[in-house]
Amino acid sequence: MLTVKTDTMRHVDHRCDLCVVGGGLSGMCAAIAAAREGIKVVLIQDRPMFGGNCSSEIRMWVRGAKGECNRETGIISELEEENIYRNPNLQFSIWDGVMWGKVTSEKNIEVIMNCSVCDADTDGNGSITRVVGWQLTTYTWHTVYAKYFADCSGDSVLAPVVGALFRVGREAHSEFNEAMGHEKADLKTMGMSCLLQAVETDHKVEFIPPKWAYVYENDEDFGGDGVKVKEQDADFLAKRNASAYLKTGGSVTDIDVKTVVNMSRPHSPGTSGTNLWWLELGGEYDSIHDAEKLRDELIKIAYGIWDHIKNHGNHGADNWELEWVGCLPGKRESRRYVGRYILTENDVEAGGKFKDTIAYGGWPMDDHSPAGFYSFKEKNPPSKLYPAPSPYGIPYRSLYSANIKNLFFAGRNISATHAAMSSTRVMATCSLLGQAMGTAAAICVNENLTPDGVYEERLEELQGKLMDAGCYLPGFVRNIPELSKSAKLNLSDADRELLFNGCERPDEEGKINYVSLNKGDSITFDFGKETELHELRVLFDLDYSRKSVSANKKMRVFAMRLHTGKDFKPMTVAAPIVKDFEVYADGKKVFSDDDNYLSLRRISLDGVKAKTLEVRFNETHGSEKVHVFSCDVK
Ligand SMILES: Cc1cc2nc3c(=O)[nH]c(=O)nc-3n(C[C@H](O)[C@H](O)[C@H](O)COP(=O)(O)OP(=O)(O)OC[C@H]3O[C@@H](n4cnc5c(N)ncnc54)[C@H](O)[C@@H]3O)c2cc1C
Repeated sequence: MLTVKTDTMRHVDHRCDLCVVGGGLSGMCAAIAAAREGIKVVLIQDRPMFGGNCSSEIRMWVRGAKGECNRETGIISELEEENIYRNPNLQFSIWDGVMWGKVTSEKNIEVIMNCSVCDADTDGNGSITRVVGWQLTTYTWHTVYAKYFADCSGDSVLAPVVGALFRVGREAHSEFNEAMGHEKADLKTMGMSCLLQAVETDHKVEFIPPKWAYVYENDEDFGGDGVKVKEQDADFLAKRNASAYLKTGGSVTDIDVKTVVNMSRPHSPGTSGTNLWWLELGGEYDSIHDAEKLRDELIKIAYGIWDHIKNHGNHGADNWELEWVGCLPGKRESRRYVGRYILTENDVEAGGKFKDTIAYGGWPMDDHSPAGFYSFKEKNPPSKLYPAPSPYGIPYRSLYSANIKNLFFAGRNISATHAAMSSTRVMATCSLLGQAMGTAAAICVNENLTPDGVYEERLEELQGKLMDAGCYLPGFVRNIPELSKSAKLNLSDADRELLFNGCERPDEEGKINYVSLNKGDSITFDFGKETELHELRVLFDLDYSRKSVSANKKMRVFAMRLHTGKDFKPMTVAAPIVKDFEVYADGKKVFSDDDNYLSLRRISLDGVKAKTLEVRFNETHGSEKVHVFSCDVK
């Protein structure tokens, strides 16, 4: 008989300031933000690529706050801009490469891929000392020692191991006075899904289903004909939405229950059509320990639904070909940490006006039925949408553990009730949470503070750093460096005010907030005397309407596609982004880029000494005018 000793496997130790577990968008943004603040980061990801639910393994679309002017900026925007430039046809595998490149180009990040964290130690005094992971491809145990840890695994994998407080399931009404809460608390969650991807060809394509696929002869067999919502639900939703709309300044006449209850299971393929998100199971099971058996079921359902689309009834799919079926379920919900603050439905509905706002949401509260695919059997829709104001603030206190001193988290596992999390879980929101958390961790390291210490002592610094990094914080304006404010500019007073007002996006009232210049124009700072210059920060308009970015309406929200019809058109870099610009210190060129595609540029000036600094904007990506939200020097 063979005996296998674990100590025959290789062991490797790593040391860093911050160890991030999980490389979905929240973990990636956390790692990048922390690394850019100068601390040493180890990012452990258990898959061969980054992105979690938006990677090529799962293929969910990134979504965020509703409303044209509420688009998420910061690292998530940078990732999208990079993807549009390098991957205009939006191939998921190339998107994987874009994400990988963004992380690995940060010199302060050490990446450990294909490594699943499965153990951790604490010091007996409420702090984590190390985590241990198993790397599948090298048969190696990796141990990471760090000052701070961030659990961005979605599943809060560290919680039970280190004894961090966490919650699972849906709260009772009584606990937080949430209208969406239930009579009694339960352990039910939203489920997980395996998606399909299809492409339209110019010829008829047959589909022969495997024998193990489920069979759905008619739409009624899976609720594809739409489910009539139970009367009491419709009534509840109508009242609920009336009050929610009124609170956000809407009028009751806006209300149409049909828009807030996702009753149908659309299943005709199309570029701008559905992604079959309702192929969902698991909310009535344990989303962690039952994941494999749920996966098997989801695959049988997915093939069965494609067989239905192709071979049962007319779905306009004769020329469509199935090109990919997900084998790794994307998870919506599992354990949620308990932090210093638990965000609730009432906070969301009140607009989240927190003094420690570090990110925002704005997706409706999108509460999926735990029965998922089978919810039609109990006359429930696959999801109920409860409106949320957009944007609403999310507090920093929801990003660190209530009882483990050096543990952060970001993503779908933050400290929120089930109801609030049904909105905060979308990936652009999770990205903002990750960026905020990584930035906070860097302050902890540099100032030797606990996460709570940052809340008590360094909140303004955290918010300032986030806004400098391009993040929008509703209700806050960015501080302009004193050096810039004291300089003379070659702009009118009105333009100077626009440039320095700290508002870096158009607002809903139609105020554009950018300075409009002609191509070839410059912004010139005159400091009055020779001055040491360290950084130039320029923020270009990224076209909040997104009309110059995509002809496909769905892809304007965030550049991702799934089913591809012949009407798909490649993406283009936002027209007002400046492609070619130059920087002169006392007339001497100190920087130039003739192939820029990013809206935010922070350019090191390496302490150059100059009395004047000129930023000359030569060419855009198509726009006649140059739109500059901010341009300042420190
Ligand atoms: C089918 C489906 C449809 C959805 N629809 C949308 C949508 O349209 N738009 C939208 O924005 N959001 C959508 N969501 C929600 C969104 O995808 C998630 O809430 C979001 O991905 C959460 O981000 P995250 O970074 O917290 O977690 P994840 O994206 O889940 O990333 C966590 C990462 O951590 C890794 N990991 C886990 N455990 C370990 C471990 N032990 N060691 C190392 N790594 C580990 C995982 O492999 C994963 O890559 C949907 C979700 C699903 C499942």
